[in-house]
Amino acid sequence: MIRVGREVTSATKDRADVCVIGSGSGGAVMAALLAESGKDVVVLEEGGNFTARDFTGREGEMYPLLYRDGGGQFSADGGVNVLQGRAVGGSTLINAADCTRIPPEVLEHWGTVYDVEGVNEKTLRDSYSRVERALGVTDILEGQINRNNALLLEGATKLSMKGGTFRTNRTGCAGIGTCLIGCPVNAKKGAHLNYIPRALAAGARIYADARADRIVVNNGAATGVRGSILDRERGIATYPIEIEAEHIVVSAGAIHTPLLLARSGLGGEQVGRNLTLQPQIPFIALFPESVVAWKGIPQSTYVDAFDHNTAKHGLGGYRMEGISGGPGFASFIFPGIGAAHRQLFERFANTATALILVPDRPGDGFVSAQKGGGAKITYTVQDLWRKNARKGIAAAARCYLEAGAEAVLWADETAEVIRSLKKAEKAAANAPLAVSSARLVSAHCQGTCRMGEDEKTCVADSRGRMYGVKGVTICDASLFPSSASTHTMIPTMAMADLIAHHLIDSGA
Ligand SMILES: Cc1cc2nc3c(=O)[nH]c(=O)nc-3n(C[C@H](O)[C@H](O)[C@H](O)COP(=O)(O)OP(=O)(O)OC[C@H]3O[C@@H](n4cnc5c(N)ncnc54)[C@H](O)[C@@H]3O)c2cc1C
Ligand code: SF4
Repeated sequence: MIRVGREVTSATKDRADVCVIGSGSGGAVMAALLAESGKDVVVLEEGGNFTARDFTGREGEMYPLLYRDGGGQFSADGGVNVLQGRAVGGSTLINAADCTRIPPEVLEHWGTVYDVEGVNEKTLRDSYSRVERALGVTDILEGQINRNNALLLEGATKLSMKGGTFRTNRTGCAGIGTCLIGCPVNAKKGAHLNYIPRALAAGARIYADARADRIVVNNGAATGVRGSILDRERGIATYPIEIEAEHIVVSAGAIHTPLLLARSGLGGEQVGRNLTLQPQIPFIALFPESVVAWKGIPQSTYVDAFDHNTAKHGLGGYRMEGISGGPGFASFIFPGIGAAHRQLFERFANTATALILVPDRPGDGFVSAQKGGGAKITYTVQDLWRKNARKGIAAAARCYLEAGAEAVLWADETAEVIRSLKKAEKAAANAPLAVSSARLVSAHCQGTCRMGEDEKTCVADSRGRMYGVKGVTICDASLFPSSASTHTMIPTMAMADLIAHHLIDSGA
């Protein structure tokens, strides 16, 4: 059963063996596997419950419906747009459906530098297989690559830069191109189409529009969760909801898991710290020919020639990935205001766009509670990140100019339309990428409840069990001790599968 906010007409109480908070990559997998193992499971999900029928393809309607803060969640200084889904299925409903595994060097890095035990290629192998099977992960076929994505690879191939095509959890994709605002034909197999139905079939009860406000603890052990039923239309809380449970799984994502723990007075001073955003800088290339980037799979190709993986530092370097979205998305990444913006936008049909993904290192990134509610995301763009992003911009300019672009620029107010490689490389080397001018995007927030065996520096152990309190397991992207340095859906789901199997095997 999924019960949505408007169906709840009074204060509600329920009781279960396990209460899972959040139903995205981490929460959906945990709910399904624990329910299938015989546990009585209740899920609280702050977002609504949507189906393909709700996905109208209109950005103005979908961002407020499916995204945290309507897609307008930013770091405190306004420098990075931190995107997250908010719905049954979490960010899997609105993500780009790229399926990647954690690079082996990053896992090694976690083991040697962060004292993570038992999370490695070998222990994750079965989890990856199970998750990829559940999502129907396959290769994107050549015929499914749209012109926007093809152009990136064309340039890279001419320059002998290594690249490729993503694996994906799409089946029967009709190339409508609205993946980032929900797939209207259920081709994109988010968690709402696999793990959530499995959880329901195994008896789990899901409350949508139900925000967990506090975990209740007695004598050092969790006893339940207090929350609020939300009226989405009016933006208010209507009735209280109380779940009694001896085991709480917190899967509210890397921004809201630490907030919930802090509101509950749980965890030490590490809660909310070590945030990595892996910011991406959008890149734009103008072609004489028609590109029509908004049609077809939005993200299907990448150039990973400049990944720099080491066990010592995790993943470094940068990567280029084709991307496209609707006009709302494009208007955000196209620089300029007024007439300049309009002039550029008139070329939308002839524009190819990419994201330059640059992994960051855990630094001063910190999530805390905003006065009056909500998250305050403190984050400083690192010098090393800027250095690598500048190299990435120059490499993207090379690729697109080689592929026949007549001009290039990137998402920074100071960037100009540049027509020659020499000028582009010089401008890239001097790109300020300042907080006030660059339009950076993060779709991969991670690391705010770091896992590892050192209780002083970590919030949970390597199996997600929270230190200092009994019966609370953390299971989402907040566990990653440093950036997984790749897309984070399959990594989070595989980690959830591993943690769920540990819990089931231990009989907890
Ligand atoms: C636009 C976009 C594109 C992306 N593209 C890709 C991609 O192509 N490939 C890939 O691998 N990854 C991609 N990602 C990243 C990936 O989807 C996420 O990293 C992953 O889903 C994170 O899993 P999670 O469980 O940590 O959080 P989420 O999946 O975000 O789930 C967290 C859930 O918790 C809920 N929640 C939060 N607070 C509360 C509360 N107090 N009470 C109840 N519920 C709460 C939220 O509403 C949300 O539904 C993308 C992300 C975005 C935003
Ligand atoms: S491109 Fe494919 S997966 Fe994406 S919205 Fe369209 S049909 Fe769905």
